[in-house]
Amino acid sequence: MRSFANPPSDFTPPFCPNPSCRHHRGLTDGWRLKRAGFFRRLVQPHRIQRFTCLHCRRSFSSQTFSTSYWLKRPDLPARLFMRAVGGMANRQIARDLRIAPATVDRQLARLGRHCLLLHTRLCGQARPRGPLVLDGFESFEFSQYHPFQHHLLVEAQSSFFWHFTDSPLRRKGRMTDAQKRRRQRLETELGRPDPKAVEKDVTSLLQTVLDQECAVTLRSDDHKAYPRALRNLECQFHHQVTPSRQRRDADNPLFEINLLDLLIRHSQANHRRQTIAWSKRRQSSAERLAVLLVWRNYVKCRWEKRCRQSPAMLKGMLASRLTVREVLKERLFRTQIDLPQRWAEYYRRAVETLAVPNGRRHELTYAF
Ligand SMILES: [Zn+2]
Repeated sequence: MRSFANPPSDFTPPFCPNPSCRHHRGLTDGWRLKRAGFFRRLVQPHRIQRFTCLHCRRSFSSQTFSTSYWLKRPDLPARLFMRAVGGMANRQIARDLRIAPATVDRQLARLGRHCLLLHTRLCGQARPRGPLVLDGFESFEFSQYHPFQHHLLVEAQSSFFWHFTDSPLRRKGRMTDAQKRRRQRLETELGRPDPKAVEKDVTSLLQTVLDQECAVTLRSDDHKAYPRALRNLECQFHHQVTPSRQRRDADNPLFEINLLDLLIRHSQANHRRQTIAWSKRRQSSAERLAVLLVWRNYVKCRWEKRCRQSPAMLKGMLASRLTVREVLKERLFRTQIDLPQRWAEYYRRAVETLAVPNGRRHELTYAF
């Protein structure tokens, strides 16, 4: 497979990278461009070919199509990928790679955006098959006073991780009197999360995946918001409820989602119990989860033992498992891929954490 991470010297641009050019979205018939010399850079390959689009006069290079575009350390995305799903916290990754912790934060966000686009592109033609399993994965952002849920949807027959969204929650459970007073103070100051958030975000999750379906079997626990979310669906559904207290073994109808929960807690340091590496914004948690989703579906085998196939192979979407190099082989353009509504928010880093009013948004042009 050709790798754009190090474009060969005969590299031909597949389209014009200028979003407002008519040759940007696949209309390449009659597209004319010219080679416009080289520029030199410090890392290999040192000579980079430049081009000019003869339609819009935009100048660009073979690097414009690379996932290492504008990076001083083009090796970072691939090295970050496995560390992000290998249970390492951001600061541990920074020490391991000898880079600043802020670089890890920014590059993980960029990697997460790439994974959102990659999954959306790869599953564009795929359809859900067999029962789907829905669940909420609980974690917290900023502090334990700000819990949230990632809503996850998995296919029972293949372990394919279809989609996720998130909702902020109100802190519940056992609290001391001092903790109750603190919660009260924070809620007066910052406001309370929308009590209908779970219903809205589960609806958004299901609508994204079941957009083209006419009937579906859905398994879940007995969460009160799920039947309300299901009523918003346009397709017919058969809802199988398994009480959340039922023994969680391989015979449990929710086995696939319980397994994914375990895998997330095992592979991502921000969701470990008793961790000091929790996400400060659930925005960052979504970016990390997008990396895990791509790893789970396209890179990893479905089972660790006696299985060589990834969930995407079991669904007939790909003929082989992707390597990290293949995941990062080309830059994906947001202007060419329509993201589901919540994922478009993740891409813009628009998910706000109440306690972090000035969290960084994604507005950069070059660092896509
Ligand atoms: Zn152009």
